[in-house]
Amino acid sequence: MNSHTTALATEDDELAEFRAQVREIAVEKIAPHAAETDATGMFPQASWDAMRSASLTGLPFPEEYGGQGADLMAQVICIEEIARVCSTSALTLLGSWVGLHAALAHGAPELLQEIVPGAASGVSGVSFSLTEPHSGSDLASLSTRAQPDGDGWMLDGRKCFITNAGWSDWYAVLARTGEKGYAVFMVHRDDPGVSFGRPEKKMGHRGSPTADVLLESCRIPGWRVVGDPGRGYDYIMGSLVYSRPIIAAQALGIAQGGLDESIRYTAERDAFGQKVSRFQLVRGMVADMAVRVESSRALLYHTVRTIMRGGAHARAEAAMAKLLCTDTAMAVTTDAVQLHGGYGYLSDFPVERMMRDAKITQIYEGTNQIQRLLIAKSLYARAGGE
Ligand SMILES: Cc1cc2nc3c(=O)[nH]c(=O)nc-3n(C[C@H](O)[C@H](O)[C@H](O)COP(=O)(O)OP(=O)(O)OC[C@H]3O[C@@H](n4cnc5c(N)ncnc54)[C@H](O)[C@@H]3O)c2cc1C
Repeated sequence: MNSHTTALATEDDELAEFRAQVREIAVEKIAPHAAETDATGMFPQASWDAMRSASLTGLPFPEEYGGQGADLMAQVICIEEIARVCSTSALTLLGSWVGLHAALAHGAPELLQEIVPGAASGVSGVSFSLTEPHSGSDLASLSTRAQPDGDGWMLDGRKCFITNAGWSDWYAVLARTGEKGYAVFMVHRDDPGVSFGRPEKKMGHRGSPTADVLLESCRIPGWRVVGDPGRGYDYIMGSLVYSRPIIAAQALGIAQGGLDESIRYTAERDAFGQKVSRFQLVRGMVADMAVRVESSRALLYHTVRTIMRGGAHARAEAAMAKLLCTDTAMAVTTDAVQLHGGYGYLSDFPVERMMRDAKITQIYEGTNQIQRLLIAKSLYARAGGE
């Protein structure tokens, strides 16, 4: 059955064609492995290989570094289509995109030449490494330290919950360089003093590795610092304006997948002598789910256009899109399980996996409470208040 994505009608031909291409890869090469990836917790290698051969690994990166140079709208569509069938695969793909954002925006050409071509071809991965055991939402309180050491830097600290830790070759690490200064460092997995914690056992996204990154007297050369070593925090805030719509797209894809599966199932399941889809209570739920999905998509695409034209309130809009799309994913997948009845609770159908996968989208890349605070702050600031 086809997806019920009506937004296709409003896309220009090139984007619609791109969406169709990614959907074909997702349905034919990624979806068949989604349940097994979840059940075994194994890295989604077959999906990764499929995404690599379709050059999706380098989608956002500049062509001069081997990427496709695609804009944010194309990236969002790509993540949405992959997450619709396997959110773990989408997370694996978007990890390097997000991890390289600060370096691409502020890094020196020699740094980019060293890292980006490998990430673009999918030979290597990059991890966005911010969170620490005592510093998640309150990122500015982080304690990983970087001290100047000759012509390089010495890093000490512990990052936790890092997606693709152990698998990625490169780690974009935010560390403190002074009382108020922070820098982003590109740390390689083979640098002295780098090690990884045990893989975390998670509710969802089980095939996506998550672990601590430990830095003990880790010495790295000076050219690995991104831009100005006092402005790393600002760089990361800039990256979040980019990464939140990407996470919103992941959540939107999960929600669309839950809606598609619900329509498919209720159209086939019989009860009281007719198809379950004939019951008005069921039809009402499906309609509400579709309204949530389409309104989330509309806000996300609007946000992407705002970001692409450098709109003044991009940060608040990115927070709104992240908030709405991820709350939609949670609500729609919960209803999808309900519409499958008892079968929705079994791993035989994909909706229970989708519901588990949806949950983290409300938490990472800034929890949804933090998004609400950001939105309110922007509204009061615009009104000249506090
Ligand atoms: C599967 C997974 C993958 C992840 N991947 C990465 C990654 O690749 N890189 C990375 O750096 N991090 C990653 N994270 C970490 C994630 O971004 C953090 O867990 C998240 O930012 C929340 O931080 P915390 O866990 O410390 O929660 P806390 O900050 O301790 O928050 C606990 C609760 O308090 C609430 N809260 C906190 N402050 C406020 C406030 N001011 N007002 C209202 N409520 C508040 C929060 O919303 C939350 O509900 C990942 C986490 C998971 C589970």
